Amino acid sequence: MRSVKTYLFQFSLVASVLIVAIFGAYRYWGEYPRELAAVEAHQKRELESLRQALDQDKQRLLANVQDWAHWDDTYEFVQAPASHESYVKGNIVKGTFLVFNLVGIGYYDKDLNKVLQWGFDVGNEQFVPFEQVLPRELSELIGTGEDVDPGGSVTGWVRTNQGPAEFAIEPITNSDETSAPAGYLLFARLVSRDQLDALQAITRLTIDMRPVEQGDAITAIPLLENKELVEGVQTKRQRLLTDPSGAPVAVLSIEHDPIAMPKAIGPAQIFLLGGLLMVPVLVLTVTERTLVRPLRRNVLRIESMVRDETLELLPEVIPIIELEQIRGAFNRLVRQAQNQQAHLTELSMTDALTGIPNRRSFDWTANGRWRQAMRLRQPFLFVLIDLDYFKGYNDEKGHAEGDRALWNIAQILMKFSRRSGDFCARLGGEEFVAVVLGLSESDARSWVEELRLAIEQLGISHPRSQVSAVLTVSMGAVYIASPDGDDVITPLSDIIRQADLALYVAKKEGRNRITFRILELDSLVHQ
Ligand code: GH3
Ligand code: MG
Ligand code: MG
Repeated sequence: MRSVKTYLFQFSLVASVLIVAIFGAYRYWGEYPRELAAVEAHQKRELESLRQALDQDKQRLLANVQDWAHWDDTYEFVQAPASHESYVKGNIVKGTFLVFNLVGIGYYDKDLNKVLQWGFDVGNEQFVPFEQVLPRELSELIGTGEDVDPGGSVTGWVRTNQGPAEFAIEPITNSDETSAPAGYLLFARLVSRDQLDALQAITRLTIDMRPVEQGDAITAIPLLENKELVEGVQTKRQRLLTDPSGAPVAVLSIEHDPIAMPKAIGPAQIFLLGGLLMVPVLVLTVTERTLVRPLRRNVLRIESMVRDETLELLPEVIPIIELEQIRGAFNRLVRQAQNQQAHLTELSMTDALTGIPNRRSFDWTANGRWRQAMRLRQPFLFVLIDLDYFKGYNDEKGHAEGDRALWNIAQILMKFSRRSGDFCARLGGEEFVAVVLGLSESDARSWVEELRLAIEQLGISHPRSQVSAVLTVSMGAVYIASPDGDDVITPLSDIIRQADLALYVAKKEGRNRITFRILELDSLVHQ
């Protein structure tokens, strides 16, 4: 057997473990993979937009090259460069390189042999040998093989002595593009920081581009062309740019928005989990307060009742219907037991024959009345009543008739003891007692005489009485005008003895009479 508290604690523990397990499982196998997939798709789209933005850059460069390549001046120049020096003077100027951020311009004949090439140092703004800037044959950039379209445009990445560059190659034709290609025009443009900043603005990625360096583990870096997120969801990743021959050109360092990165267990999950774990704690606290504590207090109360042999109602309200029903039932049981107890007490205090208080009741009550009289200094009248020649009455009329006579006399006595504080009892046999408080001496004398007379006037014929034709009583009365309990406390037994003596005198002096004694507590005066 365990206490509710223990059960609750175990329940809370199990519930907490379950909550953590279910929440963890849901998060790990359900929600988190979905979030990851969403972010993965998002990052893929970001990379795709980067690819497209870079392509557009190269397309813009190609547009410039096309502008020059489909121009009659260029067309004529490439076929006879020696006789078109003015073309070079007019077009191949520093301004051209600076405007487009170019590091190389190359003219080639239709067999891909170089016609004329210019290299440019953008930092120093001066011409340098083309081979120094871009030591590659055109065929390497256009690519070889059957799938290369000799009349088509080519764009791509290439490594230069000043850093990663993009290039565009366009076949040279006349302006209306009706002629066969007379050669090829190549522009190589350095990738500038401005260009990267523009890319960042479009893609919302943080982008950095650096030339491939010796020692770079380039085999581990996926190509930008690769559309798969081979490394999965990441905040940072690298992509490799290669030239048409597959040689590495640059490494792109890409940083995604870190806010979008999902966490299996992040602050939101911890907050939610904390909230969920509050549930068992709350259940524990509420049950402890509403159930365990009131229950415990009631149990303690019942235990103390058992210990002290008392019966009390349980006052502690338990805000749970079923337990409140138990408390209600218990309290009804207590009331029942209290009623039975009261009834038993009353029975044990009542004389079975006459229905008036019995000797036990007298023992319980009389002392209290005496002390009350002493405390309040109330006049105190104590009377012993004994039936005259009652044995003879019984003998003459039978015991049942004797009982009836006792009953009748008891009713008279009760009638005379109606005021609060009055008390009468059957002491046993044919002896009665009466206690009356607060009467003056003359009233006390009248009270006793009237009682005697009332019994006499019942007119119960008593042939064997030697003093009367009817049943009579003798009385020993003791009257204390002003009981003073301050000095010496006189025990009631002293008064009973005095009343007994008075009764004895009444009997001796002829019966059917009263011996009325006034008692001074310090010096007993007989009358
Ligand atoms: P005295 O005048 O001296 O008091 O004489 P007495 O006969 O009354 O006194 P005694 O003590 O000799 O007798 C008391 C009688 O009371 C004895 C008994 O027959 C009778 N008695 C006692 N208790 C009962 C009772 O419960 N019922 C009846 N019917 N009689 C009882
Ligand atoms: Mg007697
Ligand atoms: Mg008698």
